[in-house]
Amino acid sequence: MDDCIFCKIINGEIPSDIVYEDENVLAFKDINPQMPIHILIIPKKHIESIIDLKSEDETLVGKIFTVINSIARDIGIDKTGFRVISNCGENAGQTVKHLHFHILAGEKMGEKII
Ligand code: AMP
Ligand code: ZN
Repeated sequence: MDDCIFCKIINGEIPSDIVYEDENVLAFKDINPQMPIHILIIPKKHIESIIDLKSEDETLVGKIFTVINSIARDIGIDKTGFRVISNCGENAGQTVKHLHFHILAGEKMGEKII
């Protein structure tokens, strides 16, 4: 998608602080962190949100969660805990229309974060 900010991050048009990358998935630090640790995981395929997922994306979504598991262990938040959030649509406040999962960690959380 030409006007998608996360597609521009994927193709290097916009710089990002990359935490993990493979052929299907990219993880990078959120530019406006809401917690001491705030990482975004995205598929390289442009999918707008959870509601736009198709059955053919099942493996990709599984991969995203395997990557979340791996990142959590690598940065040591597997022991302390973390939260994963994906905002879908207007009422959830989704601002970037490219599927992404927030990993939030680094301090004790209340009920609502984003
Ligand atoms: P959401 O509100 O769930 O759509 O989340 C979008 C997230 O993308 C927000 O937390 C933003 O801070 C983050 N974001 C927007 N632009 C960038 C960027 N260029 N690099 C890193 N994170 C970004
Ligand atoms: Zn995109």
